[in-house]
Amino acid sequence: MHGGNEASTGTDAFLLHVRELIQPQQFNTWFRDVKVEDLGSRGLRVLTPNSFVRDWISNYYGDILGQSVRRTFGEERSLTLALDPDAPPAPKVEEARSGVTAVTGGGPARPTRTSPELDPYSDTILHPDYLFGNFVVGPANQFANAAATAVATSPALSYNPLFLHGSVGLGKTHLLQAICHEILRHDPSTTILYLSCESFINHFIHALETNDLSAFRRKYRNVDVFLVDDIQLLANKDRTQEEFFHTFNTIYNLGHQIVLSSDAPPKEIPTLQERLVSRFKMGLVVEMGAPDFETRVNILKTKAKLRGHELHDEVAQFVAEQVSTNIRELEGAVIRLIGYASLTDRPITLDLAKEAMHGDSSPLTSATTIQDVVSVVTKYYQVRLPDLQSKRRTHSIAFPRQICMYLARKTTNLSLEEIGGYFGGRDHTTVLYGEDKIAKLIKSDPHTKEVVHHLHRQIKER
Ligand code: ADP
Ligand code: MG
Repeated sequence: MHGGNEASTGTDAFLLHVRELIQPQQFNTWFRDVKVEDLGSRGLRVLTPNSFVRDWISNYYGDILGQSVRRTFGEERSLTLALDPDAPPAPKVEEARSGVTAVTGGGPARPTRTSPELDPYSDTILHPDYLFGNFVVGPANQFANAAATAVATSPALSYNPLFLHGSVGLGKTHLLQAICHEILRHDPSTTILYLSCESFINHFIHALETNDLSAFRRKYRNVDVFLVDDIQLLANKDRTQEEFFHTFNTIYNLGHQIVLSSDAPPKEIPTLQERLVSRFKMGLVVEMGAPDFETRVNILKTKAKLRGHELHDEVAQFVAEQVSTNIRELEGAVIRLIGYASLTDRPITLDLAKEAMHGDSSPLTSATTIQDVVSVVTKYYQVRLPDLQSKRRTHSIAFPRQICMYLARKTTNLSLEEIGGYFGGRDHTTVLYGEDKIAKLIKSDPHTKEVVHHLHRQIKER
């Protein structure tokens, strides 16, 4: 973006096209500090602040760059990626800590972060609902909640590392993200790196392949708070375990906070090296269990409220009896109730809940499927499903894809992950982003509103 002297309309337009083709979060992560030079007949040169960004762009955004070149110049031009000789070195941790993300060395200062956000290398945006305030506390998770709250209130001063474990759908990710939200609320300049373990593994393998371990290490070790979700995925990854061991030690020895989640306690993660097991147990290890009846009732009410509905006690109690373990399923039940009520145009009563949860003859047994959504949307926009599932990001494809995501969220009870998976293995943040974008458009643009409502009706009538 900082074209400096070299900036010409061509290079500016080029970056604008890139911006159009990808999500703002991604643009901000990978292209914010990129410069573009117009080399005339020799094409364009994209300058990146470090080799990690260069390799990442080259691996994942090649198509986008090519497309942007064609849009800018109406023809192919050659394009090279190179390191920016003027790029500042990575900021020191202390500087990041005090909010001065500007740098040693003569390079231009990077803007101080103003709005709360994760470190750009994090692999997700925070789910807006995953706050402590929306986390229902009961006997099975009160210790986990208290420990997470303590960590969020005084990072690195209470429990380090904090290790949360429990089976799927019991709120580990929710608590990890609540910690991030809370820390950033207190001090938006904190550098937080939040990752799925899978991303750690992938970044590490990528760094190995490109012989770029030093950039990897600089990145991973320069953070105030380091959270890794689903650490059990380190099982059977010997080389990555070794790297993780060093990452862990460095961050820990700097006195910075580490939070880990897993589906099993440290000693039960298969093939986890003994030295990692003992590191993981150094702070506090807390188990999260399945919620009891009372907690389930409260969770149902909370989830309904987040979606704008009040559940009567009797309804919540009835549903809490039906669904007993996984909290994600409780959420599914809430969506089912709300969907059923709007479908039949009735209030959410106990009778309705009984029908919605059981009745084979209920409209919901022919519950809306993602195929229903897709067939209505593809017909309207004259696109094909394989296109929606492809990597293509042109507006004519991306827009109907986002409409599908929005409507799938409204009409099916699939999770974000399931919807993303259906549309070509996209992750849940992409679905959230799409949903959010369409919701905003509906508010601001009457035409979109009308179209979406029309499609919504068609889906319901199937
Ligand atoms: P995990 O990471 O352990 O598999 P998640 O954190 O993804 O589980 O939780 C699954 C769903 O259940 C999320 O939507 C989360 O908000 C919700 N959830 C889990 N525990 C609670 C709780 N105690 N209160 C409210 N919602 C919860
Ligand atoms: Mg999780």
